[in-house]
Amino acid sequence: MTNFSADRRDFLNSFMPQSAAGDAVMVPVGASTVRIATRAMACEFGAALNPGSHESVSAVSDALEMVHEIEGWLSIYRSTSEMSQVNREAATQEVRVRPELMEILQLSRNLFERTGGAFDIAAGAQVSLWRRCRQQQRIPTEHEIKAALAASGSEHLELNSETGGVRFGITELQLDPGAIGKGYALDQLGDWLSPDRPRVPHSFLLHGGRSSVLARGSHNELDGWPVGLGNPLFTNRRLGTVLLKNQAMATSGSNIQFFRCDGRRYGHILDPRTAMPVDGMLSVTVLAESAALADALSTAFFVLGVENAQKCCDNLENVSVILIPFPDGKRVRPVLLGVPLGQIFWDDEQVVVPG
Ligand code: AMP
Ligand code: MG
Repeated sequence: MTNFSADRRDFLNSFMPQSAAGDAVMVPVGASTVRIATRAMACEFGAALNPGSHESVSAVSDALEMVHEIEGWLSIYRSTSEMSQVNREAATQEVRVRPELMEILQLSRNLFERTGGAFDIAAGAQVSLWRRCRQQQRIPTEHEIKAALAASGSEHLELNSETGGVRFGITELQLDPGAIGKGYALDQLGDWLSPDRPRVPHSFLLHGGRSSVLARGSHNELDGWPVGLGNPLFTNRRLGTVLLKNQAMATSGSNIQFFRCDGRRYGHILDPRTAMPVDGMLSVTVLAESAALADALSTAFFVLGVENAQKCCDNLENVSVILIPFPDGKRVRPVLLGVPLGQIFWDDEQVVVPG
């Protein structure tokens, strides 16, 4: 079910920057948009369009329906999905998968190598262990951690691009696409909305769960779409505005999804090399050409921390990163890696603006 709404004032409250009146630097601001949304992958997927033709709205609405289809084969929470079938059978026989799933797995394996194992789609055993413990309000035993570690690792994921087959090198391996799936779905939507297709708008902003965003074209006479960067400490405040130019953005953080046990916080992002939750930073935002890449890398850089993220980023083209470590005082001190000048506009009441 897709919902439509036309909003004359501010679209996607948490996204669009509000009035910039009084700021020394001209902060790009949003204007009227039409927004469309649907629920999938346990979150809201939505689109914003410049006001205009009904045909555009209808094309974007069709595109959004694709998320349900993708969820149908990608979700590990659907026993009938192709991904669940892989998790059940790939340890005993080669499972043939659709090219799209093979594409996700190949990208994931590649990113596992490039991030030194900080992003690992084959850490499903760890994710489900922590999920179970969260439900039981306890932390895993040492034995459980060891077993989950032994049951993880994309080095055990065997992909045959000729046959389209997937095999697991160890029996207990489990795949969890949670850190890349939303981004991948946005890329698919973005591709479907190609300028070659009739009646498709040239400009739109797509988001999945607000943590992943994909922008095409322009808005409000800007050369991109202005997107608000949330403050991880105060979710109703924005640290600044990013002007997205035909690119994607993803944010990973542990401020919303975490649980407390014996006075400690445990976030939902794990270091697959230790099977322990990482909580070293407030948030990490990645800008990249594709939403799948931005999604996976924001998770990986959250795990890697500032120094190692920098090393990894040096080997990646067209990727920029905004790392937000825990602040000493009230204002956060973002660390920027490769963000072009003029693409980010900070609220200097909340941010010590990086030099
Ligand atoms: P994200 O919100 O994109 O950072 O993804 C977090 C989700 O991805 C978690 O809820 C897990 O399902 C899964 N996950 C957690 N840690 C990792 C990791 N290091 N590599 C790959 N997937 C992970
Ligand atoms: Mg991610």
